[in-house]
Formats: sequence, C-alpha cells, structure tokens
Amino acid sequence: MASRRVYLETFGCQMNELDSELVSGQLRALGYSFTRERDEADVILYNTCSVREHAEQKVWSRLGEDKARKLARPAMVVGVLGCMAERDGTDLIRRMPVVDVMCGPGELDKLPALLDNAVRTRESLLADAQRNAEEPEQPEQTRDEPGVDSGNGSSPVASGFSGSSEFFLKRSARQVALQGNASRRSSTLAAAADTLEMLDLSRSVSPDDHTGSAYVRITRGCNKFCTYCVVPFTRGAEVHRPPRHIVDECKRLADSGVVEVTLLGQTVNHYRFEHGAAVTVGGVAQPQKGRSYTGGHRRDPFSGDKTTTFADLLAMIHEEVPQIQRLRFVTSYPRDFGDDVLAVIREHPRICRYLHVPAQSGSNAVLARMNRGYTVEEYLEFLDRARAALHQPEIGRPLTVAGDIIVGFPGETEPDHEATKALLERARYKNSFIFKYSPRPGTVAFDKLADDVPDEVKRRRNNELLALQLRISETVSAEFVGQTLDVFVQGVSRREEKKAIKASRYQGIALTVNGRAAAPDVEAPVVDAAGVQMSARTEGDVIVFFDAPGGSSPDDLIGRIVRVRIDSSTPLALHGRFEP
Ligand code: SAM
Ligand code: SF4
Repeated sequence: MASRRVYLETFGCQMNELDSELVSGQLRALGYSFTRERDEADVILYNTCSVREHAEQKVWSRLGEDKARKLARPAMVVGVLGCMAERDGTDLIRRMPVVDVMCGPGELDKLPALLDNAVRTRESLLADAQRNAEEPEQPEQTRDEPGVDSGNGSSPVASGFSGSSEFFLKRSARQVALQGNASRRSSTLAAAADTLEMLDLSRSVSPDDHTGSAYVRITRGCNKFCTYCVVPFTRGAEVHRPPRHIVDECKRLADSGVVEVTLLGQTVNHYRFEHGAAVTVGGVAQPQKGRSYTGGHRRDPFSGDKTTTFADLLAMIHEEVPQIQRLRFVTSYPRDFGDDVLAVIREHPRICRYLHVPAQSGSNAVLARMNRGYTVEEYLEFLDRARAALHQPEIGRPLTVAGDIIVGFPGETEPDHEATKALLERARYKNSFIFKYSPRPGTVAFDKLADDVPDEVKRRRNNELLALQLRISETVSAEFVGQTLDVFVQGVSRREEKKAIKASRYQGIALTVNGRAAAPDVEAPVVDAAGVQMSARTEGDVIVFFDAPGGSSPDDLIGRIVRVRIDSSTPLALHGRFEP
C-alpha cells in the first residue's frame, strides 16, 4: 500500500515547532510521507496553541473547512495535537466531530499508536457502512445514538455507502476520539516514567532535516502560574532534561551540519539538574521536576558538584560541541537570572549576546495582579546588570534584548499604560511582541479578574505601544550602520521566495527555496544567485538582507555564517553587502 500522506500545520511558539519536527520524524520513520496540500492528505494534523484566543480560532476555522473534505473522503483522519487537545478534551470532539484523534503535548510520543488506532477504526467503520449499504434500509438507525443529528436522511456520500454522512461522521468521531482521549488521561498517570523524553531522544537528525539551525528542548512545562497564562495547565509542571541527553543531542545535530542551536524552555534560565536526586528507569536517566526557590539572587543557590545549573549547561555545550557556532536560548524569566549565567555568556564567544526576557507590563500594580513575582525596578536592575556585563559594541559584540508586553490586562489604568511606555523607553528592546490581553478559561485572571478594559481602549494602547517600539527599534537598528557583522544565513528573503514560487508556477523554472524544493516536483537549484536577496540574522537576532555574490547558489550560503557590511537600516531590518 502507498504510504499515508500527512498534512501537518503548526500554530504558536518555538516549542510547538520543535514538537512538530519530532512528530514528523517519528511518522516518517514509520513510513508516512508529508504533503503541503490538505486536499492530498490522508491524515490532517494541527499542532495547536491556546495561549491566545486568536490562535484557537484559526484552528476552529480549519476544522470547519475539513468537514466537507471528510464527507467526500471518509477514510481521512483528522487530529488535533498540542495545547487545545489538552485543554478542551471531549468538549472539542463534541463541538467538532470531524476530529478523530486528540493528543496533548505531554503524550506526543504516543501519536503513532493513536493514529494507527484511528485509521483502523475508520476503516472498520467504513466497512460496516459499506455492508449496511448492501443490506435493506434500517429504519431505527439513530435509536441508540441519542443527541446525534441523523442528517435528515441525506444522500449517499462519495464513497458509496448509504445512510447519513453526518451520522457516520459523528459516530466515527466519537468512537475514534474517545480512544485517543482515554489514552491521553492514562498517559498522564504514567508520567513518572517520562516516556516523552524518548521522543526527544529518538529525534531523527539528518542533514536533509534542517538548514543549519535547530531547537533543543532543555525544560518542559512551567511552575510560574502567571494569572493570565494557560501554559502551566497545558504543558504541566516544570521538568528539566538530563544534561547528558541535551549535550548528546547537540552533538548529533552538529555532526549533521547544524551550526546554530536555540535552547528552549518557558523559563529557560531556571534549568537545573540535581544529580544526587536523579532517577533512572530502564537505564535511561529521567527528566526531573524543578525545585522552586524564592527571591532574586546572583547565582543558582543549588549550584555545586552534584548540580548542573543553567550556567554549567551553557558552558558544557560550548566546550563539548565547538562545531555549534551560535548557541542561544529562549525564553528567559526576568527574576532568578544569575550573574553566573551572564559571566558564562561573556566568557564564551559562541554564546549569543541576545536575551528575550519579557516584562509584560511597566506597572507594579499590574505585575502584581499578573503574579509575575518581580517589580519594574527589579526588572530594570536586571537589564542594567545584563548590559553592564554583555553590551560591548566596541569589540563588535553588543547585547540585544527583546521583550513581550500584554496590553489591556484587567484593571490597567491610563497611568499603568504610561508606565509601560516608560518601561519601553528604558528597556530599549530591539523589538517587542505586544499582545492584547486575551482572557483564557481556566486561568486565575479569567476566573477572578473582570476583562474590564474596553476593546477600543486595548486597541488604542496597543497601537501607541507599537508606534513607540517602532521608533525605539529604528534607533537601535541605526546603530549597526557602518559595522561589519557575522550573520547566519537562513534562506532567500521572503521577497525572493515569492518571486521564485511565482516563476516556478508560471514559467516552469526549477528551483529550491531555502534548501527545500519550492514545488513538489522541482529539484534543480538556482545555479547563479548573483543579486538574489538573502535573509540572515546577527548574533543578536537582528534580520539582515544582503545580495548573494555572483557565482554562488543560495544553497551554498544557507546555513553558513558570513560577513556582511551594513549600509542602511529600517526599524526591523538591516541591509548590507556581502564581504568575501
Ligand atoms: N514563558 C514566557 C515568559 O513568561 O516570559 C512566555 C511564554 S508565553 C507562551 C508567550 C507570551 O504570550 C507571553 O510572554 C505573554 O506576553 C503572551 N501571553 C500569554 N498569555 C496571554 C494572554 N492570556 N493574553 C495575551 N497574551 C498572552
Ligand atoms: Fe506562562 Fe508565566 Fe510560565 Fe511564561 S512564566 S509560560 S507567561 S506562566
């Protein structure tokens, strides 16, 4: 039988991107192939995000569209992975019977088994339906299915079985998804043996899987319980992976040509592994629950011989995997960021001087209601400390900082908003992600704090912050003009991508875009890239555009670090010339 084709779409953060990569590797190893077209897929998977309502709405609308697809091709399987599966559970199936499989972020290792179940169940349901179609009509069809709409006796669907296609859709959804759901709950109970670690450990690493850059998870989950945030509920408790697993994964990635690694965690600087308390199951060291501590400090209070702190981990990767030329990490939590980490970054040249360290608000009253655990003064003290240690433009190594802000949190007044503007002025982020507050069911803010900032006020404050950040980004960017920087080439620019895809469609030109075929049956690379605009990033994560030199192909440059002289800047990007 031809391999089943999977369409996988990812919503949300880098953690979801990594999960999707791991899931794809697992499915590929089992013989599944991938398609970019939903209409060609036998299996449609959405890896979802619940952090804001908007991200969920996109998935609801995709699922709505899939209903017609499934009526036309009843053997197709639809799966919802990630945060929505964890959060919405059976409600999701009730609302969207098109869903066959649900798989929360904590059980992605079980996805192949769940998919296999779903495929088999649909096949047997189809066979039943086929048999029924050959038998005389059965008038009591819906008696044992209370609450299920019989579809008013609609006509046979495309596969040829008779009876209600809606009925089939709903019954099958219930039968298949409940299997997934049962598995989901029981796997939560089995969390002591951390089977999810096997997913990271079994990561398929081959030069074809990347374009020089990769994510590596170091912690999962979060213990912070910021009052607006679903992550502690969808991703569970903070858990740290054994350092040896992380370093070995970095080595395998480097051996396959990766030169840039981004370490991932919701509170990445909380990483700590206490070897004295390590648990081994079947010879495999298990990830460890985070031990909490309170109060700001300059050094991990548990550091010592038997503990690998975040600072130790960074130094280990730097020492043991020198092929990794850029080591970065996201997202940092402003409190508990020790001087020990800053010192390690300063002393190790391949650790990027870039921090993504969200403040969320510039008002102490709002920060307290958010349960962020620090004040504006403490946040700014941290930034000053980080800049004093790491901002060295004179040796070509400036520190760049990015932040997140939530605008219109419950009770946010005009003075609170002004305080956030003042924080932006002081923080001088190279960019910040500004989100309008989105009330999330299940969080403390949703239950206890009225969403009392009117939407037009949220919108106006949001626009003011965006305009202010744009002005700040413009001045931060302008400081790079005239410098020659090492940049990591990620691919051709969006502009070129669009041009190339258009050309391949309308003129039959064969090309690859960012190391991958731009169209399914296109293989040959662009031969001479002279003048093709490339997109790259500085150590500080600033985007740089430059024209590829003649005689090269984009694929020669992608995944490499090259030198570019910066000629001009815009608020969010630099433009420069390749320096041979
Ligand atoms: N762990 C990171 C931290 O605390 O800095 C951030 C992780 S969160 C998935 C990413 C960002 O989404 C947050 O920094 C916050 O700005 C935003 N966010 C989270 N919940 C939100 C909500 N309910 N409404 C609006 N933005 C939200
Ligand atoms: Fe969410 Fe706060 Fe944890 Fe970040 S630190 S993931 S915002 S609960």
